[in-house]
Amino acid sequence: MCGIVGYIGKKQAAPILLEGLKKLEYRGYDSAGIAVQSGQGIEIVKAQGRLSNLVEKAGGMSLKGTAGIGHTRWATHGVPSECNAHPHCSADGAVTVVHNGILENFRELKEELAKSGYIFASETDTEVIAALIGGHYHDCGDPLCALSRFMKQARGTYAIAVLFRDFKDEIYLARKDSPMIVGVGEGEMFVASDVPAILSYTREVYYVDNLEMARLKADGALFYDLNGKIAEKQPVTVDMDPSAAEKEGWEHFMLKEIHEQPRAAADTFRRYVREGKIDFSEAGVGEELLKPSRIVIVGCGSAYHVGAALQYVIEELARIPVRVELASEFRYRNFIFEENSLVIAISQSGETADTLAAVREAKAHGAKTLAVVNVQGSSIAREADHTLFTVAGAEIAVATTKAYSAQLIVGYLLALEFARLNGKMGEKEYASSLSEIASLPEKMQTILARKEEYRAFAAERFNVHDVFMIGRGVDYAVCMEGALKLKEVSYVHTEAYAAGELKHGTISLIEKGTLVVGVLSRNSVAEKTAANLEEVISRGANVVCLMREGCTAGRFGAETVWTVPSVAECFAPSLLVLPLQLFSYYLSVRLGHDVDKPRNLAKSVTVE
Ligand code: GLU
Repeated sequence: MCGIVGYIGKKQAAPILLEGLKKLEYRGYDSAGIAVQSGQGIEIVKAQGRLSNLVEKAGGMSLKGTAGIGHTRWATHGVPSECNAHPHCSADGAVTVVHNGILENFRELKEELAKSGYIFASETDTEVIAALIGGHYHDCGDPLCALSRFMKQARGTYAIAVLFRDFKDEIYLARKDSPMIVGVGEGEMFVASDVPAILSYTREVYYVDNLEMARLKADGALFYDLNGKIAEKQPVTVDMDPSAAEKEGWEHFMLKEIHEQPRAAADTFRRYVREGKIDFSEAGVGEELLKPSRIVIVGCGSAYHVGAALQYVIEELARIPVRVELASEFRYRNFIFEENSLVIAISQSGETADTLAAVREAKAHGAKTLAVVNVQGSSIAREADHTLFTVAGAEIAVATTKAYSAQLIVGYLLALEFARLNGKMGEKEYASSLSEIASLPEKMQTILARKEEYRAFAAERFNVHDVFMIGRGVDYAVCMEGALKLKEVSYVHTEAYAAGELKHGTISLIEKGTLVVGVLSRNSVAEKTAANLEEVISRGANVVCLMREGCTAGRFGAETVWTVPSVAECFAPSLLVLPLQLFSYYLSVRLGHDVDKPRNLAKSVTVE
C-alpha cells in the first residue's frame, strides 16, 4: 500500500526515484509524485493514475538535483487526483512531505490551522502534516525539533520523508507503524517502503524503528528517538534475491508466483525440517510454547483463510481448540484470553496494520504471540515474541499465491508439533505426515503442468457473472481462498459457502448458468457435498467438481471435473487451491484486467 522512495547522493535523483516507484508499483496506488531539491528550491511534479503518466510528465521537465523524495498514493483522505497526490508542501514552501498512513486527528488539527487563516490546497491529511511541521520549523528553526513536535501531537500511523528547503543536502524521516527502510550505498543513501525498491542498488539496510526519526546525508544516516537523542543502530544485509522483483520472461507476476509455489513450499519445509524432525529452534520456539491449551489465529484476507484451514487441521490432528479471528475484529472485540493461550499472527508483509495491532493487543493481555511472516525485519516479526518465516521470496502480484502456500506449510508443521507434544500423534504417524507434506511440491508441479485445462475453461466461461464455491471442513477454507482470488483479480462476484449452509438461504440465488464449484477432498463428507451439488444442478447451475484423487464421492452430474493428486486429507488445501488460482488468473487476463494490480487493491495493507 502506497510507496515512499528517497535518494540522496551524487547522481540525478529524479530517474532513481521514478525507477524506485516502479519497483513499488505492486503495492497498489492511484497517483504518484516526486520532489527534487534543485538550485531553484524544491521542484515538484505529480500525476494522477499510472506511474507512466508521471514519468511522461517528469520527462518534459528538467528536474535537476541530487536529493529527492517520491510517492505512490493509495488515497485514504481525499479523492485520487493530481492535487491530492503527494508530495505536499507547507504554505511557505519550506517543508515538503510524502506520507504513508493516516493522521487520525487530522480534522481537529486542520480546523485549528484553518481558524488561524491557513489555506489548504488539498483534501488530504498529509497536507496537514506538512503544515504542522512547517509551523514548528518556523518556530524552532530545526528540522528534528519540528519533526519531534509533530510526532508528539500526531495520532495515527505514518512513515514520512521530508525535504526542508533550507537543508539542501539532507532528507529527514519519521515513522510510526508504517514501514520504512534506509538503504546504504557508496556515497549515496536510499529510502523506501520496502526492500525490492532498492535491491538493485544495495543490500545493506537500516530498518527505521517505531517513533524514530532519521537524518540522511549522502555519506550516512543518523537515527534519533522521539526526544532527539541519537539511537545507535547497525545496518543489516538482506538476503532477498533481486530476481524476485523481476518478471523474468513471465507474462505477469501472478503467473510467475503461481509457478513458484512448489519451490516456496519446498524451501519453507526445508527451513524447518531436518533429518526427519521439525526444528523451530532458530525462532526460539520450544516445547513450552507448543503446548498451549488454546490457540487463536489472527490474520486478514488470505492469511485469515490460512488460519481457517489450519483451524481444521490443528483441531483434527492435535485436538487443541482453535479460534480463527479476523485481525481487524480481534483488535477491538475485548477478547477473552484464557490461561496458556497462544496467538498465532499470519501476514505476508509483516506490516499488515490490523494484524500488528492484534499482536499488540494479545501481548498487552499477557498472551504469547507467534508470527508467521514472509518479510525479515518487518514490524510484526520484530514485535511478536517469536517468528517463523515463510520462504516464499518477494511476492509482487497484489493477489497472494505463493505466500499463502508457504504459510500453509508452516501451519502444517506447527500442527504436527502441537499433535506430537499433546500426545495425539505417535512416531509413525508423525513420520508419514511429514513425508506427505514433503510430497506436496511435486504434486503441485503436476497440477501446474495441466494449466491449459484451466485456461481453456476460463476462455469458455468468460461471461460468468456469479460463482459460488462450496465445501465442507477444510474444503470450505479452500473455497474461501478461491473465492477471494476470483473476486480480487477477475472482479466476478463470487461467494464461498459451507456446503451445508447454501440451502439455508443462499440457494435462492442459484439460477440457470450460475457457476458452482464444489470442493471435495474429504471421504467422510464427500457424498454430502456431492448431494448439495446435485441440488444446485437441479436448479440450473453449471457445476465444476474439484476433487482429490481417491476421494470417494463417486461420479455424479458435474459437467466438469478437476482433480488434484491424492494426499493426506489435512494437507489437501495446498493442492486444491492451485486450480482455483489458475482459473482466477486466466479469467482476469481473458477479461483484460490488470491482473497484477487489480483496481482498488493494495499489496501490504498498512492502514486500518
Ligand atoms: N492518508 C494519505 C492520503 O490519503 C496517505 C495515503 C497513502 O498511504 O498513500 O493522502
